[in-house]
Amino acid sequence: MSDCIFCKIINREIPSKPVYENDRVYAFHDINPEAPVHVLIVPKEHIASHNELTVENVGIMKDIHLAANEIAKQLGVAETGYRLINNCGTHAGQTVFHLHYHLVGGKPMGSKIL
Ligand code: IMP
Repeated sequence: MSDCIFCKIINREIPSKPVYENDRVYAFHDINPEAPVHVLIVPKEHIASHNELTVENVGIMKDIHLAANEIAKQLGVAETGYRLINNCGTHAGQTVFHLHYHLVGGKPMGSKIL
């Protein structure tokens, strides 16, 4: 999608700090990290949000979750733990409308969701 910032990052039109890539998924460091480890995992296919997942495209979730496991091991948070967060829509605080999961870790985050 031509005006999507994450599509531009995937296409290397905007620079990013890569963490993981295969033919379906790209992961890179968040530009404004909220934890010592803060990586964004995005499908290469433009899917605007979790609301747009369908029977046809939901297979990408397998790739995103397997990528998360690899990234957690690579960045040393698999054992200490991490959160995988998806913000869907305005009330959740979604600001970039290209499906993505935040992988955050590297510090204790407590047990509260909000
Ligand atoms: P959201 O609020 O769940 O949509 O998360 C969007 C995330 O994208 C935020 O954590 C931003 O810091 C991050 N972000 C926005 N632009 C860039 C960029 O150019 N590179 C890396 N991360 C970005």
